[in-house]
Parts: sequence; C-alpha cells; structure tokens
Amino acid sequence: TEPLIRAESLIRTIPDYPEPGILFRDITPMLADAAALRAVIDALIEPFAGQFDVVGGIEARGFLLAGAVATVADVGLIPIRKAGKLPLPAASVAYDLEYGSAAIEVHDDITPGMRVLLVDDVLATGGTIAAAKKLVAQLGGEVVGTAVLMELTALPGRNVAGEVHALFEA
Ligand code: IMP
Repeated sequence: TEPLIRAESLIRTIPDYPEPGILFRDITPMLADAAALRAVIDALIEPFAGQFDVVGGIEARGFLLAGAVATVADVGLIPIRKAGKLPLPAASVAYDLEYGSAAIEVHDDITPGMRVLLVDDVLATGGTIAAAKKLVAQLGGEVVGTAVLMELTALPGRNVAGEVHALFEA
C-alpha cells in the first residue's frame, strides 16, 4: 500500500554508525510521519490480529513500536529490557553478541499460557529475538509471532530467530 511504501522510503541508512563499517538503519524519520507510523503499526499487527494477549517490546527501539502496537491491538505491553534495568526481573537470558555477551530480563507480568507477540525494529543476527523467545518460555508464555520493521537479509537472522514477520528488507 502507498503509506507503507512511503514508510519504507523514510527509513534512512547511515554509514559508519555506531562503528566504522556498520550501515545503520535509522527509523526516526519514519516514526515522525503520522501516516507512515500508522501504516507500519497496522501492518505489524495484521498477520497476528486476535492471536495475542500481550506485546513483548524489546529495548530500546522496539519500545517505540510496541506501545503503539499494543494500543492499536487493544492489548497490554510488557517491556523486555537489558539486564539491570528492571527492579524485579523474574527471568533472565544471556546471549552472545559479535563482541562479548548481553542479557535481557522481564518481569513476571508474563504468565503461563499468555500469548505474546514480540516486536522489535530490526532483525540482524537474530540473537536478540532468539533470547526473547527463551525469556518468554521461561515464564510459561507462548510466542505466537515476531514482528519487525526491517530484516537485514545478508545476515542469517531467521536461522537463529525462526520465522519473523518483516515489513521491509535491506
Ligand atoms: P540482532 O540480535 O543481531 O538481531 O540485533 C537486533 C538488535 O540490534 C535489535 O534490537 C535492533 O534494534 C538492533 N539493530 C541491529 N542493527 C540495527 C540497525 O541497522 N538499525 C537499528 N537497530 C539495529
């Protein structure tokens, strides 16, 4: 649809950020555009409409989308945060980064049987999504889908993260 094409055109590519050699996909111009933002939120939800009880928003840029997704879908939002940011983490999963490792955490707002839609901005190596899936599973939740704006297809993200609904490819 036209607003989605417009949304894609508003994602810009910044060379050598945050490090030399990295092509950073910057979604901020897209977020600033009302029609583009609404179109991507609707499109993120569309394959999963009526199938999830809550949105799991992944820090940090995933938060920018997850609140809107949850509100439009009329469900709640549960933040999945980097280790040390939540006061009462109920589950924690460590995962490898290109250099070193990281961990993500969540509160016990995810309960057994809860159907979770994971939302993030970019699928790169897939490590973050794979870790988020384990996190939800630790608390007995069920990940019914993963929705992202953009998939970096040069990387094997899907092999690591599994099936992902991506609106755009780069
Ligand atoms: P992964 O774990 O390698 O798939 O990395 C995904 C995480 O890194 C996501 O939470 C993204 O927000 C972030 N990320 C990776 N590449 C980019 C990019 O080009 N633009 C914005 N975020 C990115």
